[in-house]
Amino acid sequence: MSRAIPVRPKDRVCFQCSQCAECCRNIEGELMLTPLDAYWLARLLREQRLASSIDAVYERYAHTDLLEGCLPIYLMNTVGDDHACVFLRDGRCSVYKGRPQTCRIYPFFTCPGECGKAFETFQCMDRHASHFTGGKVLVKDWLHENFSEESCAFMTTEATLMPELGGLLRRLGADEIKACMVQTLHYRYYSYDLDGPFMPQYTRNMKALMRLLRNRSKEV
Ligand code: SF4
Ligand code: SF4
Repeated sequence: MSRAIPVRPKDRVCFQCSQCAECCRNIEGELMLTPLDAYWLARLLREQRLASSIDAVYERYAHTDLLEGCLPIYLMNTVGDDHACVFLRDGRCSVYKGRPQTCRIYPFFTCPGECGKAFETFQCMDRHASHFTGGKVLVKDWLHENFSEESCAFMTTEATLMPELGGLLRRLGADEIKACMVQTLHYRYYSYDLDGPFMPQYTRNMKALMRLLRNRSKEV
């Protein structure tokens, strides 16, 4: 795992993007696609007439994996010898307006603090250290531009639900996890109307998924 150092909103960090696209290469197995990322991508690709539903994003541009052996997730596909993101074309992001949250906020990342504390922000000290030699970025401004209220609401809800979701899945055991895989993917990732707002649909889906898993865990 790459090293990261905590930063505060008032910090000014040396950073200048030279648009080398190196952060979009060698990302095999590294870029997780959340349901919100897939929703944004699907809406953009629909505008570009490249996809008509969220299903197409997963089918064409992502593949599944199991997080900590129990939670099915989607990871972005890569192409070529340099394992570049499937959306990198001629050295540019072809889905810039709809790119995933991780890409938007890079070279920082943010996550909810423990026990409902405020979000914490970190600077990624990864293999692309050379971009930390140029201009200056005020962390607060970067977050304002690249971390939307929708992302904040999504990550806050995820942080609240994940401990119980993980616990329920672990209690089910490997065979039951496999049996619930399709429903877990369906509720978490697929069941979205692109014309409706994301958060109410996500909340509804996660409630349905948790209900289903609670019932299954009572049976095992
Ligand atoms: S963020 Fe860094 S690695 Fe990514 S394109 Fe800019 S300079 Fe290159
Ligand atoms: S979605 Fe765009 S910014 Fe993100 S890794 Fe792919 S090409 Fe790079």
